[in-house]
Amino acid sequence: MFPANFAYVAAHSVEEALQLLAKHGEEGKLLAGGHSLIPAMKLRLQSPQTLIDIGTVPGLCGVRLEENQIIIGALTIHADVAVSDLVRKHVAGLADAASVIGDMQVRNRGTIGGSVAHADPAADLPVILTALNASFIVRSSSGNRAIAADDFFTDFYTTAMNAHEILTEIHVPIPAPGSGTAYAKLPHPASGYVVVSAGALITRQASGSCATARIAIGGLGSGPCRAVATEIELQGKPLTPQVIARAAAKAAEETDPVEDSYASAEYKRHVATVYARKAIEAAVERTATN
Ligand SMILES: Cc1cc2nc3c(=O)[nH]c(=O)nc-3n(C[C@H](O)[C@H](O)[C@H](O)COP(=O)(O)OP(=O)(O)OC[C@H]3O[C@@H](n4cnc5c(N)ncnc54)[C@H](O)[C@@H]3O)c2cc1C
Repeated sequence: MFPANFAYVAAHSVEEALQLLAKHGEEGKLLAGGHSLIPAMKLRLQSPQTLIDIGTVPGLCGVRLEENQIIIGALTIHADVAVSDLVRKHVAGLADAASVIGDMQVRNRGTIGGSVAHADPAADLPVILTALNASFIVRSSSGNRAIAADDFFTDFYTTAMNAHEILTEIHVPIPAPGSGTAYAKLPHPASGYVVVSAGALITRQASGSCATARIAIGGLGSGPCRAVATEIELQGKPLTPQVIARAAAKAAEETDPVEDSYASAEYKRHVATVYARKAIEAAVERTATN
């Protein structure tokens, strides 16, 4: 399949990319790793007249520590997130998620910024970044603004970003001492995308009980959803297998999953409870080392 004809222009800075976006308006589209946009163009789901390539814009790659946050440039590829020492040390759940995206080729081209901007309901990173309470820094000609993960994913393939904005960084707060994070995914056997997945951030009190929990589930709706009933069920309780199982059983409460040819809504709801339990158990195990 071939995409419709398009023009191509490479931007050499964020400012130049912003100018090009302003110039081309609705007909211009940013290109990062191209691993979601190009397939969509080949299927004629998208037909931008001009691709604005930001792939070589300096300053948008890499992982660094700043105060109490891990800052990840929007152009950082999944493979680099997966092996980053900072990510593995402080938010291992993010490394879990990055390492199970697609295959090696996808992980070596696809970017974290492209993944969250594309907002595929079956993507991995939106789920774990929601559990980690990340925020997304977007730049426009009027400056930067931060959007919390809870507010970022607004619908299928839709985010709170405006068309004239560029995502530049993802900020991931370093969890409090005594925290553990994890990600667990049931992949579609053919595509590898998420059927259902769960991300967990668990913080323990000195007594060992759960101080706070953030749990996000993917595959049940238009984007990641917080499993609020599970979070409440865990709070203040000892993190025994029974407590975790009871909390995880509530992971799909108040969700209305979309059925597809692979999985019924009932199956997705059930699998969500299983993968929530796996993610919480793995996060709890990691609290011991943090
Ligand atoms: C075979 C295959 C298997 C895959 N499997 C998985 C999987 O298992 N799990 C998973 O999560 N993903 C999967 N993916 C998707 C992959 O992770 C993509 O890399 C990712 O979703 C998009 O990143 P990209 O850099 O390629 O973005 P692009 O395709 O270049 O762009 C995607 C969209 O984001 C916009 N965009 C890109 N960067 C920015 C920015 N900085 N600011 C604003 N907008 C921006 C673009 O305009 C476009 O609309 C798979 C892809 C393929 C081809």
